[in-house]
Amino acid sequence: MTMKKTCMDCGDSIIGRSDKKFCNDFCRNNYHNRFSGQRNAMMRYINAKLRRNRHILYQMVQCELVDVSRSELNDTGFDWQFFTEEHVQKQAVRRFIYDFGLEYSGKSDQFRIISREYQSPREFHLRRMLAAEEAGHEIPV
Ligand SMILES: [Zn+2]
Repeated sequence: MTMKKTCMDCGDSIIGRSDKKFCNDFCRNNYHNRFSGQRNAMMRYINAKLRRNRHILYQMVQCELVDVSRSELNDTGFDWQFFTEEHVQKQAVRRFIYDFGLEYSGKSDQFRIISREYQSPREFHLRRMLAAEEAGHEIPV
């Protein structure tokens, strides 16, 4: 029995080697570009959602808002499905969107906006050196 092979891109029947998946390089490139295009669009969508959520928290901090309710966040268009990290502790859940986050107890609909400062590798190294110097230790390389 012979299987009729068809191109994964255009669907035409393929003549030639049995392991061929495309009729030619054009179809091969077209096929791969289409999938990477979809993948990129999906990543752009997620990144935009994260940036938007972070921006909402950033703006609230700028307005010196610390405690916000679920409905206040909903009104801004905050999308609860998108966050970068979640830390669950006994008393509280912390969800971060990059450097800003929300802390909540789980019982109430009140949230506290928290922020985290990231250290650059250089800053981290300098702090380590200063700490070692103060402690009278050999300076780490
Ligand atoms: Zn083809």
